[in-house]
Amino acid sequence: MRAYFDNASTTVLLPEVIQEMTKMMENVYGNPSSIHNHGRTARAIIEGARKKVANILNTSIGEIFFTSCATETNNMILKMAVQELGIKRILYSAIEHHCVLHTIDYLKSRMNIDTIKIPVDVSGTLDYGILHAELEKAPGPTLVSIMHGNNEIGTINDLVKIGELCANYKAYFHSDMVQTIGKYPVDMQELNIHFASASAHKFHGPKGSGFAYIRNDAIIPPYLHGGSQERNMRAGTENLYGIVGLSKALELSVKNMNHWRTHIEKLKEQFIEGILSEIEDVTINGTRDGLYHIASISFPASPKSELLMFNLDIEGISCSSGSACSSGIEEDSHVLQAIGHNPNRKTIRFSFSHFNTVEEIDYAIGKLKSFCQDKVII
Ligand code: PLP
Repeated sequence: MRAYFDNASTTVLLPEVIQEMTKMMENVYGNPSSIHNHGRTARAIIEGARKKVANILNTSIGEIFFTSCATETNNMILKMAVQELGIKRILYSAIEHHCVLHTIDYLKSRMNIDTIKIPVDVSGTLDYGILHAELEKAPGPTLVSIMHGNNEIGTINDLVKIGELCANYKAYFHSDMVQTIGKYPVDMQELNIHFASASAHKFHGPKGSGFAYIRNDAIIPPYLHGGSQERNMRAGTENLYGIVGLSKALELSVKNMNHWRTHIEKLKEQFIEGILSEIEDVTINGTRDGLYHIASISFPASPKSELLMFNLDIEGISCSSGSACSSGIEEDSHVLQAIGHNPNRKTIRFSFSHFNTVEEIDYAIGKLKSFCQDKVII
């Protein structure tokens, strides 16, 4: 059996998305910037896709900008906001994705700004008190960058609460929404967010296609210079097929959201209950009410659990490790370190989609049980 449990990393393309993209590839090839008929056809398709995305998020079409991925979007927003909006401080959570963390490190090393990391507790929940206290200090224009759902342990941040805090202290608010757009209902009118990012390949769309939400009152200059594509916000010929795939995938993800969510929630529950009852001394990272598609599990040390991911891969199970290799030494990720995780325990992230089945979950529980039997004391 082969089971794909790495859906937080990327997802399989929906057949309807492949169909739609293929149809476009076969029939539409004009440059959307050309004024002739071929170009106008391509332009109309892109604007149709933008309208679809804007309607789904309840924004205006002028607030959606297509990009190549969320990494590009987050770089663009953070760098251009600091450059253009006179930002003097960035407040961000300790468990942001590397594309946010490394961009903030870069900005700190080049610009005269303060960067303040807001801690999380053992469950990965943001310390809202510290965020509030830092905003209260108000020593200059501030950008708050806090993700919606964490990609490793699945904790969800309260965007309404953070948005209200930001509004009270006139701070700009950026949220990496890569793990939630397409999985949770999002109404931008209910959130005080200036900037957000999303990526098609996380919701069954193609890789290399993402978008930025930039609110009308927080316009930033372009990050890429060149032509006047994306209303002068992002130069470069648009990824027509990627944009078509993104909008189709988002449309279907939203249309099927409740139905897919119910299925995934059941699988996650079955998986966690199975693991807790079959294997001794396992712990679940994050909170039980975190992202419904992510389960981050720490296993006790055992001869086989040392190579747990490798062993699972051999048995046909694809998942993701919670550690990274630094100078030849396995180290817990920055997220696990931030929650004070015991590095002797082996952490694996299992992330699900509606394509997963009950049989795959049972199979994985059985394999995990056999790998975790020979325990050693550390
Ligand atoms: N932000 C989060 C939370 C993610 O999970 C990822 C992908 O793993 C990214 C950003 C980067 O997305 P992309 O692959 O589109 O650059």
